Amino acid sequence: MRWCKLLRALPGSVHKAAGGRSAALQPRSFNSSSHNHKDLFQDFESQVKAFREKLSVMTPGSDWSPITLTKGLPPERADIVIVGGGVIGWSIAYWLKKKERVREGVRVLLVEKDPTYSQASTVLSAGGIRQQFSLKENIQLSMASVDFMKNINNHLGVLNQDPIDLQFNHSGYLFLASEDVAHIMEENHVTQRELGAKVILLSPAQLKERFPWINTDGIALASYGLENEGWFDPWTLLNAFRCKAMSMGVYQCFGEVTGFRCSTQKAETVDGEDVNVKRIKYVNVRMPNSLEYQPVECAVVVNAAGAASGKIAEMLGIGHGPKDTVAGLSLPVEPRKRYVYVVHCPDGPGLECPFLIDYSGFYVRREGLGGNYITGKSPEETEEPDVSNLEVDHTFFHEKVWPLLCHRAPPFECLKVSGAWAGFYDYNSFDQNGIVGVHPLVNNMFFATGFSGHGLQQSPAVGRAVAELILDGGFQTIDLSAFDFRRILYQEPVRERNIV
Ligand SMILES: Cc1cc2nc3c(=O)[nH]c(=O)nc-3n(C[C@H](O)[C@H](O)[C@H](O)COP(=O)(O)OP(=O)(O)OC[C@H]3O[C@@H](n4cnc5c(N)ncnc54)[C@H](O)[C@@H]3O)c2cc1C
Repeated sequence: MRWCKLLRALPGSVHKAAGGRSAALQPRSFNSSSHNHKDLFQDFESQVKAFREKLSVMTPGSDWSPITLTKGLPPERADIVIVGGGVIGWSIAYWLKKKERVREGVRVLLVEKDPTYSQASTVLSAGGIRQQFSLKENIQLSMASVDFMKNINNHLGVLNQDPIDLQFNHSGYLFLASEDVAHIMEENHVTQRELGAKVILLSPAQLKERFPWINTDGIALASYGLENEGWFDPWTLLNAFRCKAMSMGVYQCFGEVTGFRCSTQKAETVDGEDVNVKRIKYVNVRMPNSLEYQPVECAVVVNAAGAASGKIAEMLGIGHGPKDTVAGLSLPVEPRKRYVYVVHCPDGPGLECPFLIDYSGFYVRREGLGGNYITGKSPEETEEPDVSNLEVDHTFFHEKVWPLLCHRAPPFECLKVSGAWAGFYDYNSFDQNGIVGVHPLVNNMFFATGFSGHGLQQSPAVGRAVAELILDGGFQTIDLSAFDFRRILYQEPVRERNIV
């Protein structure tokens, strides 16, 4: 795309940003050198400046009147509205409050449409956490998150309530590589070790010695996590974030975000494309079982709607412009259905079972101590299932998962499927990694979405990063500028190498 090349030359562009200062709040223009072109971010910059000034003078008991709440309705205004009450949304809410705790003035409202969380990715996930990624950002996010989880009661414990028990099962991930990709596993291993992850490489003989029940045919190399990997209960993490954030003053509202009211400013890209830069003024929240909606006035919106975040972006016209223009560029996050099968296998490896990920694509891990396991596999691009419901395809297990599982781990030849469920990945179809930052044409909506198969485990660190972006104007701890939306503008995918 022509404009991608031109945008690359922008001053303050995310990829060139120094010292991890990001993304959203830096002075930027699409073409600052020409007097004809306007600074797309000028309006936003001044508003954010005013917002921060307000924060800096705000103390408890200052002139801010308390919000008057009508039962069941959201407040009429809030500083920051978070759309989506999954683990990402609640983590952001917690960190926003944690960071501005001394001032206690920022009104954070979280809007969740489904109090039962019946389709939320968080509660339907496999609950895994690992350090074995190839991108340094993903490794750092997971390392910071596991550290958070190990000390969860220090972070999220609430006075006079039972301690939080994440039911963390410490168990390494075991990745298996074939000959053609073993070199990538070695390279990834170097990156992981450099960042402090405790991961070892195993030859086929070492693998056999450690896991005698694994068939090593076709395996050239394996990578095994010694520490800080395993799985935990997703609902407990979500609920812990939620309870803590609410105890710190975050408002929760059950309702559906159905649209936005925006102000619009005309601008022009360096390519001469006329664009409308929007700024959200109101979020429309429709109350459950009602056609009525309440507009909520706000300064900043966070799109943490998981698999539905592409739809939320569409409500703002993102992606509705002509193809190959900035305005035509949608948020590439969509639901992708993934099946999880629960199998009972009395002769299985039991406690010896790691979170095994085979190069053929299937995974298996222990579930409890009673001979149960969960297993699954992402379908090929051409066989992606219908996403209009969460029905499970049992044939997929018999035809696509079980043969691979038996081949690699023969004890699983004898098993019984005792249950199954399906959930939606918040799938980033561009490069399957998180998108964290603003869209250039809606400059007060922050994205925190698209984490595909690893959003749960990264949620503690992602929430902190988004709070930094909003309150500090840039990343302070882990530099996530590589995950900014602009990589989509530049058509520069940031992909994991040979890792799910
Ligand atoms: C089968 C499966 C296995 C997985 N395994 C793992 C794993 O092992 N490890 C890992 O780290 N990750 C895993 N994931 C991915 C992980 O679950 C997600 O990346 C993560 O939960 C995303 O969290 P979220 O808060 O963004 O989304 P969600 O949990 O989906 O929350 C988004 C919320 O937004 C709400 N919402 C949507 N639209 C609106 C609206 N208009 N108004 C108000 N609210 C709205 C939804 O109701 C929902 O509750 C898995 C996912 C699946 C499906």
